[in-house]
Amino acid sequence: MKLLRNLLFVNLTLIVIAGCTHKTPYTNRSQMIFVSQKEELALGEESYKQTLSESKVIVGTKDANRIKNIGSKIAKVANRNDFNWEFNLVQNDEMNAFCLPGGKVVVYTGILKAAHNDDQLATVISHEIAHALARHGAERMSASMVQQGLQVVGNLAIGAAAPQYQNLFNQTYGIGSQVGVMLPYGRIQETEADEIGIYLMYKAGYNVNEALKFWENMSEGKKEGSDFFSTHPSSTNRINDIQKVIVKLPKS
Ligand SMILES: [Zn+2]
Repeated sequence: MKLLRNLLFVNLTLIVIAGCTHKTPYTNRSQMIFVSQKEELALGEESYKQTLSESKVIVGTKDANRIKNIGSKIAKVANRNDFNWEFNLVQNDEMNAFCLPGGKVVVYTGILKAAHNDDQLATVISHEIAHALARHGAERMSASMVQQGLQVVGNLAIGAAAPQYQNLFNQTYGIGSQVGVMLPYGRIQETEADEIGIYLMYKAGYNVNEALKFWENMSEGKKEGSDFFSTHPSSTNRINDIQKVIVKLPKS
């Protein structure tokens, strides 16, 4: 029994060490991630199919084409050839958007109330893509796994995309029947997604100053009650932080 416990401990320690070796792109922050990239992509594909099957996807309209056009420009500079990018506009009045692992971007029509031009739309798409590039979902899933204890570590050793992963994934991303209980992104992840998002916007040739206006519009939307802020905590410092990122950009 003692041996088993020691083995489990060694196992967990190794996984924790291995988990810590991840780094975020651009910001170079160390992350604790126990989900492999491959598993994450498989989970993302599955949940994406589920999301679209439950949604009214808008196709062929001017706005739907704008989403695809802006998204493609940002994807091009994101440099992830392993991603199978897709950009969809979904009929939903909530001011929300997300990007699942593998580059599956969903924008709700509600966000068009706050994104008044292409640069502002690029702001929210870049922000969501940044969450995916930095694997923030996998990081949150990993944190939940630790909270749920060693059993998950045992499942992880199997290494397959098991149903319990899918459930945890859906819960983390607020997909399916669990909608509304998505774990909020932490302050660090939000600030990081803002920063990486600005770099992406800049590289794709968008006006980064419009990001400030977009977040101002969003906080006005918040007064009316926006679901975006249940998953994306608002911060009075957000605009100041983005300004600090912008001033450091090379002047063109
Ligand atoms: Zn966010």
